[in-house]
Amino acid sequence: MAGRFIEVEGLGKQYESAAPDTPPALDAVTLAIDQGEFVAVMGPSGSGKSTFMNVIGLLDAPTAGAYRLEGQDVAGLTTDEAAHVRNRVFGFVFQGFNLLKRISAAENVALPMVYAGLGGAERRRRAIELLDQVGLAKYADSQPNRLSGGQQQRVAIARALANRPRLILADEPTGNLDTATSDEIMTLFTQLNRDTGVTILLVTHENDIANYAKRLIRFKDGHVVHDGPVVHEAHA
Ligand code: ADP
Repeated sequence: MAGRFIEVEGLGKQYESAAPDTPPALDAVTLAIDQGEFVAVMGPSGSGKSTFMNVIGLLDAPTAGAYRLEGQDVAGLTTDEAAHVRNRVFGFVFQGFNLLKRISAAENVALPMVYAGLGGAERRRRAIELLDQVGLAKYADSQPNRLSGGQQQRVAIARALANRPRLILADEPTGNLDTATSDEIMTLFTQLNRDTGVTILLVTHENDIANYAKRLIRFKDGHVVHDGPVVHEAHA
């Protein structure tokens, strides 16, 4: 039987650098995520959200349990293999945009394509296509610091899409943006999820942001304390 897209079982993470007797950052986390899902991850500071995202994104290794990606146990991957999977399967979006300031928006978007081995002309063509998809084609040759925060996050989302990821991991992507801009960014994520089927896993502290997702996972003290569909209340 083919595996689920993402499946973790009894997942745990104990940081080596933590003081003795510190409870694990992740403890006995068991869940599955299917292709096309849009999941919000919530929970208080220190509850394990970032650790969970880092483990799922193959940026950090769990110390207990299993993680299967498309049926494959990722614990068996070498560092190089993990980097390859990371580049091919995941797109990352961060709170602080993390764009390179001295190169253009298009060059930022094209950067992950270098590692995927695309030629220069093809990278440029595809970067402009992606900027068009996020509504910023006319800013292709602008440097990020000429753009507003919301525009910079759109560039970062276009960059996350560069290698046609199956999963976007977004860590508080609207944390630096005002409410109206946050809503625009969340509308963009909603459209991408609906139109391209890309799976989205997004950390947020705000209920209004989580409401854009279809499923909510809530962490506390390294445990999943809630996992269920987002109930969308009808607005008057
Ligand atoms: P959240 O993202 O929900 O704020 P984290 O995953 O960052 O939570 O942290 C979970 C727990 O792990 C916290 O107790 C935190 O102090 C601890 N922690 C996080 N990163 C490290 C690290 N690199 N070394 C030691 N402890 C860490």
